[in-house]
Amino acid sequence: MFSTTAIGIDLGTANTLVYTKNKGIIVNEPSIVAYDVNTNEIIAIGKEAKEMVGKTPLTIEVINPLKDGVIADFNMTTAMIKAMLEKASKKLGSSLRKPNVVVCTPSGATSVERLAIQDAVKQCGAKEVYLIDEPVAAAIGAELPVSDPIASVIVDIGGGTTEVGIISFGGIVTSNTMKLGGDHMNDEIIQFSRKKFNVLIGVPTAEKIKQEIGYALIEHPSETMEIRGRDIVTGLPKTITVTSLQIQDCLKESLLAILELIQKTLESCPPELSGDIVDRGIVLTGGGALLKGMTEWFAKELDVPVHLAAEPLESVAVGTGKALDTIHLLKK
Ligand code: ADP
Ligand code: MG
Repeated sequence: MFSTTAIGIDLGTANTLVYTKNKGIIVNEPSIVAYDVNTNEIIAIGKEAKEMVGKTPLTIEVINPLKDGVIADFNMTTAMIKAMLEKASKKLGSSLRKPNVVVCTPSGATSVERLAIQDAVKQCGAKEVYLIDEPVAAAIGAELPVSDPIASVIVDIGGGTTEVGIISFGGIVTSNTMKLGGDHMNDEIIQFSRKKFNVLIGVPTAEKIKQEIGYALIEHPSETMEIRGRDIVTGLPKTITVTSLQIQDCLKESLLAILELIQKTLESCPPELSGDIVDRGIVLTGGGALLKGMTEWFAKELDVPVHLAAEPLESVAVGTGKALDTIHLLKK
């Protein structure tokens, strides 16, 4: 009934994705806004704004309007969603008139935070806005049998948060969330470079280091990478060499915190479902799951099978979109 005007939005701290049933993912851009601080005028959003990070004059500020998975700046979030929906319309070749929208919310979000997300999407011209819990969306997207009486465990490691959910019979049996994700890992890398080398680096460089030579806590042959930043003492540009073992050490604390969150969740699983987890294991989604060695490390530490979702950065958006089919159920 809603097929042409129903969309799913994954409003992530790091990335925003828009999904339609017929065309799949039509927008996938960083959740970033660049605006003029004097006039509040939006200069750029998404990829274009991301390119500006750390390179703008004082009059332009580049921000993530979402923090820890929830809205930190309401007006900027609405402006961003509006712009994302315009991009979606362009991709579809027709304007999105009053679409019905399913949008996911972190399972740990308060009711006020959920309402804010719903309001923001509504203000962008949506007709009805339905909310879905992120772990459920991720599980649907990863094609787990969510509506069966079987435990599916989802670990979603995003930019600002990590969520662990055990799902059975279409709902969350137990879940835990933590305000720590890939962005915190980048911060740790920035701190490390400052402390160890007296060199300041920006987020894009930290991200690059993490993606290229970042490892979960597994043994691996050490790799090196040359990076450039600004020497704190001289103020001049400087090139330094970092090793994957150093980076592994800076990620250690975050990784152990994530492991602990998973352990805690598994421990609170009803005994009747524990057996399923031993057999079926857990599924990792979210960009953070792409860190090298992540599945291997968790499998070793947790002693259960660990699988990486087919498209970890897209599972939530796909699941949100697929939930459009059960829109009438969500309404309840
Ligand atoms: P969100 O749902 O919060 O928007 P995403 O699921 O899009 O987050 O994941 C974004 C996070 O994933 C970022 O912190 C990013 O640094 C991290 N990430 C993306 N690719 C990789 C990779 N190859 N290795 C490690 N981390 C990655
Ligand atoms: Mg996410």
